[in-house]
Amino acid sequence: MTEEERSGSLHPVTSFVYSTHSIFRDMGFTVAEGPQMETEYNNFDALNVPPDHPSRDQQDTFWIKDPVDDRVILRSHTSCVQVRFMKSNPPPFRVIVPGRVYRQEATDATHETQFHQIEGLVVEKGITLASLKAILEDFLKKVFEDEELVIRFRPGYFPFVEPGVEIDISCSFCRAEGCGICKDTGWIEILGAGMVHPNVFSSVGIDSSEWKGIAFGLSPERILMLKYGIEDIRLFHSADLRFIRQF
Ligand SMILES: [Zn+2]
Repeated sequence: MTEEERSGSLHPVTSFVYSTHSIFRDMGFTVAEGPQMETEYNNFDALNVPPDHPSRDQQDTFWIKDPVDDRVILRSHTSCVQVRFMKSNPPPFRVIVPGRVYRQEATDATHETQFHQIEGLVVEKGITLASLKAILEDFLKKVFEDEELVIRFRPGYFPFVEPGVEIDISCSFCRAEGCGICKDTGWIEILGAGMVHPNVFSSVGIDSSEWKGIAFGLSPERILMLKYGIEDIRLFHSADLRFIRQF
């Protein structure tokens, strides 16, 4: 086949995002999207991020110079779409939000100034951390094609959830016996999550005495790097077609 005859295909990140849609759709989720330029309020204030939090710093976030209102940024996470969604959709709901996010930082093999996130948000009466565990374990078993996979929670801090948890998966590459990928621990840190903070609910007008929420955020690039042994996140934006054509 000549170069001209070769047909294109989906980028691995796009293809992964589509596959997550179908897994989450089976669990009752719909898909929402939001703009990549976002207000400081939606990205930080409405999500209970304090005014002096280091993530707001010019060194961490891309601020847009806008002659009318310069409190506009390139969103640093997809969590701001939670705010937009909850303001216009009364609960109960289950939604995932895929999209591109931006961080002002030096690039290296594991850091990029732009990457993707998939945010998940469930607001229902009676939803708990146990529901979060069931949903994410089911999802991650399918992603890593490992029915034996288990997850564990560790305490974690994210301003928009309380309690917050860091979630590890058992290492599918060594059956949790210890290898280079899990740094001999048998566990791999995979995503952050928690129960929606009451301050976030009050910023969007949802009564936290009536409704409970779970939220989680994961990075397609991080999961693909683990799953396929990709050693440099910059390859996802590389013009080297030998990388893309492997998928
Ligand atoms: Zn391992």
